[in-house]
Amino acid sequence: MNQYILSIDAGTTSSRALIFDKSGNEIAKSQNEFKQYFPKEGWVEHDPLEIWSSQKEALQNVLKAQTISTHEIIGIGITNQRETTIVWNKETGKPIYNAIVWQDRRTSEFCAELKSKGYEPLVNSKTGLLLDPYFSGTKINWILENIAGAKQKAKEGKLLFGTVDTWLIWNLSGGKKHITDPSNASRTMLFDIHKNCWDSELLALLDIPENMLPQIVESASNEAEAQLEGWERPIPIYAIAGDQQAALFGQLCFSPGDVKNTYGTGCFCMMHTGKTPVISNNKMLTTIAWQMNGEVEYALEGSVFIGGALIQWLRDGIELIKNASDIEALATSVNDNGGVTFIPALTGLGAPYWDANATGGIMGLTRGTKKGHIARAALEAIAIRSMEIIVEMQKDSGIQFTNLKVDGGACKNNLLMQIQANLLNTKVIRPKTTETTALGIAFMAGLSCGFWKNKDTIKKLWEEEKTFDPVTSDTNSALIALWNSRIQKILSSESK
Ligand code: ADP
Repeated sequence: MNQYILSIDAGTTSSRALIFDKSGNEIAKSQNEFKQYFPKEGWVEHDPLEIWSSQKEALQNVLKAQTISTHEIIGIGITNQRETTIVWNKETGKPIYNAIVWQDRRTSEFCAELKSKGYEPLVNSKTGLLLDPYFSGTKINWILENIAGAKQKAKEGKLLFGTVDTWLIWNLSGGKKHITDPSNASRTMLFDIHKNCWDSELLALLDIPENMLPQIVESASNEAEAQLEGWERPIPIYAIAGDQQAALFGQLCFSPGDVKNTYGTGCFCMMHTGKTPVISNNKMLTTIAWQMNGEVEYALEGSVFIGGALIQWLRDGIELIKNASDIEALATSVNDNGGVTFIPALTGLGAPYWDANATGGIMGLTRGTKKGHIARAALEAIAIRSMEIIVEMQKDSGIQFTNLKVDGGACKNNLLMQIQANLLNTKVIRPKTTETTALGIAFMAGLSCGFWKNKDTIKKLWEEEKTFDPVTSDTNSALIALWNSRIQKILSSESK
């Protein structure tokens, strides 16, 4: 009988199920997109029942696609979009409101109010996060304050809260298990990452009853089983982790200083920092990477809001290119950027600038400027923004890393990866499997149930597709110097 691990990758725009064999090869995949709701400016919602039905369908289809039986699936790993908040009725299993998605900014004013009252240092010292609507805490508060009768029901223990991992496990287990892992809990703004437990002071601050919260279990542990119609047997769940943490695991970033950068819509950079949390002096987030074998491991995280989205804008916004992949040929049609700098502040600038009001700019235009120069400057911009985050992380952690592992849609761009290697003066390594998040949670589940023996076994399965060695030259420092002087011109006055 063949043996496999099944990954649930519950993303922001789609529900996916993937099957991996013992060699770490993806042998089947099923994916269903679900609807995004934008009820008001800055609000983003999902229908939790649609998250569940699309995920269930993906799970059923992925087995059918290769006629694999549930007896051949040794275990399941679940990874998910983080922070997204769902509250449901414990008895009926019905959500009392839509899922409020991580991107949703409706609680900005409440966060600003809490900041003005001086609560950010408390939040930061306990959770490693900043006081921001991004995280689940103020989203739960909003649901309890705004849905009729919710507060009272929550106090009476009739409501449950969960991020998407918790919601799916609750449904997969037929309402038996209400659990989450520390990597997801550490994104709620309610979790003390030092003590590895829910924090009563933060719960009181946000007026959230503790009885709504899921029980914390290790990221790699067997606390629940999944049973669906048509399955011959329930399949044990062996791992739970947030998507960026799963990608960190999938990139084998197990030691302090190991870093991965995901080049998707935005760029998410995460650095493993070992068994003690590193508190950032540069507004990076400190977060739990995972808990395995009783040990909690930590990571630093920085995000660049506009990564591949800059290429999307060149394609859809000004129609400079037809396909995202055309950018590379256009950028290599010239030898350099021709003096052009592209500041990609299309939605403000995050770390280390944190300037929400900054707007973008293409600077240094002359009569000699060609489309290719703009394309090249755009790729340089993505690499420079990632470099800025990585440099801050190195300062925070005092760790000098030796290579950068990459994934995400835009990492296919060879020129971008070469520019990144040059700017960081480090090797950039692109793996063969680009489904790093799903592979990461499969690795974690497989280690947890003995499908793979130990980390050394999975290290042998991870294959490099291409390494970009840095080429140091004066051009790199000139590029950075020009960037530094030009970005000053677009920062809004309050952040200078
Ligand atoms: P997400 O998971 O955030 O939806 P993906 O990892 O699927 O993103 O990557 C898609 C992003 O990558 C898009 O923003 C797209 O513009 C960008 N992209 C895709 N191919 C390339 C390429 N060859 N060069 C640069 N950017 C690219």
